[in-house]
Amino acid sequence: MASEQSWKNKYQQVLKEAEQQEQRCKEQRDLLGRMLVRTCVASEGQRPELDHLLGRLRADLRRKTVNAQAWLSLQEQIDRQIALLDDERAPNSTEGNARQPSPRVAAGDGIDISDQDHRLLIARRVGQLLNQVLEQVTLEPDAEAKAKELQQTLLSSIDWSTLRTSLESVSELLIRAITRNQRELEAFLTRLNDRLETLREHFSHQSESNSSRKDDTEVLDQEIRHEIGLVSEDLRASDDLETLKQSVGQRLDQIGNALGRFKEKESRRERFMAEQLESMQQKMAAMEASSEQMQEQIRRERARAMTDLLTQLPNREAWQERLHFEYNRWQRYSHPLTVSVVDIDLFKRINDSYGHKAGDRVLQLVARELQGRLRATDFIARIGGEEFALLLPETKMDEAVSVMDKLRGYVEKLPFHFGGNPVSITFSSGLAQFVRGDSQDQAFERADRALYRAKATGRNRVVAN
Ligand code: GH3
Ligand code: MG
Ligand code: MG
Repeated sequence: MASEQSWKNKYQQVLKEAEQQEQRCKEQRDLLGRMLVRTCVASEGQRPELDHLLGRLRADLRRKTVNAQAWLSLQEQIDRQIALLDDERAPNSTEGNARQPSPRVAAGDGIDISDQDHRLLIARRVGQLLNQVLEQVTLEPDAEAKAKELQQTLLSSIDWSTLRTSLESVSELLIRAITRNQRELEAFLTRLNDRLETLREHFSHQSESNSSRKDDTEVLDQEIRHEIGLVSEDLRASDDLETLKQSVGQRLDQIGNALGRFKEKESRRERFMAEQLESMQQKMAAMEASSEQMQEQIRRERARAMTDLLTQLPNREAWQERLHFEYNRWQRYSHPLTVSVVDIDLFKRINDSYGHKAGDRVLQLVARELQGRLRATDFIARIGGEEFALLLPETKMDEAVSVMDKLRGYVEKLPFHFGGNPVSITFSSGLAQFVRGDSQDQAFERADRALYRAKATGRNRVVAN
């Protein structure tokens, strides 16, 4: 009974958690809905047909229900409208017009494009994102702040490179939300359902077995009463001792047989129940194992969410987490802790001269070089486009300066070649050591100011705050 009680408590608890999680998902869906509505508004004014479709999308969002089939067809129509928009722009080339073709989504940085094109690009992106939204996307609270920030940028920025980065981030955010939250919740509910089903089966077997036992006991009871009744009658009616002995003996045999049948049924029941229990335990063990696998998968997904896709370094979220950890340690033990901010020099030129892909490759190789040369206790993250941040625990400023200067030397000598020509990539770095009274962000801010001085005084140098 006690274990039944604890199961009850356990399931009441998980049911409560499921309800809370559903509530969170609902709030997150609402946020995403609002975000899409704003994005639709920003995308209007291209073609009346497209405006009409976006209007329908907004109306659907307001109704707060998702009809996946209808949205799929809506998305196809939006795609068609966007393709038509592209076609309307294309004829210039066939007419021998010297106008440059519209830049594609993957175009390089620094290209000036009209406001019309910006809106078109947003609309195109919204069309692509719809596919993912169809899955009834949910956002986690930590992603919510990021979503709001991106939304703001998408609505207000006119700088194409910022817009593009933000669009990419939206898609990453959505993919993360789908893969993590949706699967997590669904798997959780499935698991819960399986467990409840197993328990229900077990209890129904137990109650079946109890009621059949009750029936059998009644039958046994009746049989024994009946035989005893007959013995009393025999006793009353018979005056021959020998006959009496025989008939009483027969009655006793009957009682013995009835008891034997009952015992046999009883032991069959017990065997059945033991098998049931064993099989239930096995099922429970299998479910526990799959739940552990699920948790492992969630851990892996969380790790992915903390990793920068391009360089595979820890990302800004991971940086904040580690900074918090090291800051607490520094406060407790007062061992030296130094922070370094690294920014690649004149990186825009690399993009402009050799293309964005070459720029990406440079980021990957520099990241690999830096990480490969750090101590295991040091930490490096990519915190922005061509910016990295490092935490060097147990390292005083002068030591940290020499570590960073060595890294600077290694990166400077990396054998980059573009179009067959050797090109030297350099970085500048600013450093600050945590000092008494510093808040978590103050050392970083000092390091950032030192970085600014490194840039102002010629780049390719390490400056201590
Ligand atoms: P400085 O020496 O003053 O730092 O000059 P800079 O050109 O490096 O600095 P600026 O901030 O003007 O330009 C940084 C460039 O980095 C602009 C942006 O297009 C590029 N960038 C940011 N993120 C990425 C990325 O993920 N890939 C590529 N290829 N370029 C990126
Ligand atoms: Mg920079
Ligand atoms: Mg730079």
